[in-house]
Amino acid sequence: MTSAPETTVVLEAGFARALPELAVEWRAAAAPEPALLALNEALASELGLDAGWLRTSDGLAFLLGNVVPDGAIPVAQGYAGHQFGNYSPRLGDGRALLLGELVGSDGTRRDLHLKGSGATPFSRGGDGFAAAGPMLREYVISEAMHALGIPTTRALAVVATGQPVYRDQPLPGAVLARVAASHLRVGTFQYAANLESPDLLRRLADYAIARHYPAAAGAEQPYLALFEAVAQRQASLIAHWMLVGFIHGVMNTDNMTISGETIDYGPCAFMDVFDPATVFSSIDHGGRYAYGNQPAIAAWNLARFAEALLPLLADDQDRAIAVATEALNGFGPAFSHVWSAGLAAKIGLTEPAEDVVDDLLELLRDNHIDFTSFFRALARHARGDREPARGLFPDLARFDSWAARWSALEPDADLMDRVNPVYVPRNHLVEEALTAATDGDLAPVTRLLAAVSQPFDERPGFERYAEPAPDDFGRYQTFCGT
Ligand code: AMP
Ligand code: MG
Repeated sequence: MTSAPETTVVLEAGFARALPELAVEWRAAAAPEPALLALNEALASELGLDAGWLRTSDGLAFLLGNVVPDGAIPVAQGYAGHQFGNYSPRLGDGRALLLGELVGSDGTRRDLHLKGSGATPFSRGGDGFAAAGPMLREYVISEAMHALGIPTTRALAVVATGQPVYRDQPLPGAVLARVAASHLRVGTFQYAANLESPDLLRRLADYAIARHYPAAAGAEQPYLALFEAVAQRQASLIAHWMLVGFIHGVMNTDNMTISGETIDYGPCAFMDVFDPATVFSSIDHGGRYAYGNQPAIAAWNLARFAEALLPLLADDQDRAIAVATEALNGFGPAFSHVWSAGLAAKIGLTEPAEDVVDDLLELLRDNHIDFTSFFRALARHARGDREPARGLFPDLARFDSWAARWSALEPDADLMDRVNPVYVPRNHLVEEALTAATDGDLAPVTRLLAAVSQPFDERPGFERYAEPAPDDFGRYQTFCGT
């Protein structure tokens, strides 16, 4: 095993230096008995980190934030946010730290961030810790999203701390080390806008442009270009979520990135049976963050982003509002474009076919059809093996009539298999794996990761990972603040 000295890891502190008003220097809590639960070797090597070293006690101390490379300035980041529509001026990293930035040989700068690393000045009464189950859950689901080709933060490692965390019961504590294009959020801009320093807001916007949208710097109105670029990325992101049945579950403005990556895997889950009203989060009583509401909520969040940016959009407030409103109107068409093209591809068509798709979605909802497995069954139908899809429909006549219209469009089955996953982290599989992990058996998590890391390749031995939940699994609920 190669072992590199800890000092070879360089963590820059670009954010902490550029925007000190948004950062509080802080250190992770000491972990009494570190033990590695999961390590993403592929990501480690992509980042230029030595996986062999990360497994050593020095490596674990690094992954826990307990030993910090020279020159790094770990910080808790400040941000605000609308949570379920209600504004909180001060959220921030209550159980997280930005350890620093890893700069690749190609110049890409990525945040190395810890979750579950102890209380900070932003903890608001929370303990600052996280249980191993939910951190492994973020690991599995974020890596599944990455393998599905969806922009997301990545999971580098989960390290058990050896210290219990107290929820309904004592649970094993753990820290997730994750990597992101950045942790700038809509809520970061809301926090900066609240401090009423036009200079700070401008520096934050300039930082976001330099880091994520360098082309905006050359635009006639750079801050408007920043807003438009974020809106476009978010429109595409939400469409891609929905094309694989992903429900984020807590699309508060502090959980929406400026980079356009998916962030903060808390109460998220993949939809089983297709229904736009699907909600899994235990606290989402009104269905604000239901599957089908996600585009409207993203637009609502972007309106909050625009409000924060107003002082930069024009000197005159009415003029700034007019400019922002017009830009926001671009979100709907941008979303529809990606969504329609994506749905067409799911049924093997290269051109959007709105009426065919709309009728199909209605058919899926009315017949309670499993969203993920249906599209792979439909690809078999396109190849002449009709039973797997037909057999799913209680209302067979209605399906046959739809399938006749669709077949006439000459769908491409290979295209369907390229865009429709066989394996997603299904709720019953995630629960099974996390229950085992909490009891000390990591094998089911490893196996589930193997399935969802190659979501489009049907493989022998993984049959049960492709199957819908058993009937006795019941209604699924997910939780925040775990
Ligand atoms: P979330 O909706 O999970 O992204 O978190 C919302 C806010 O609650 C963030 O400011 C978190 O840092 C904070 N938070 C969540 N859980 C804890 C905890 N156990 N201790 C301290 N802060 C927490
Ligand atoms: Mg969050």
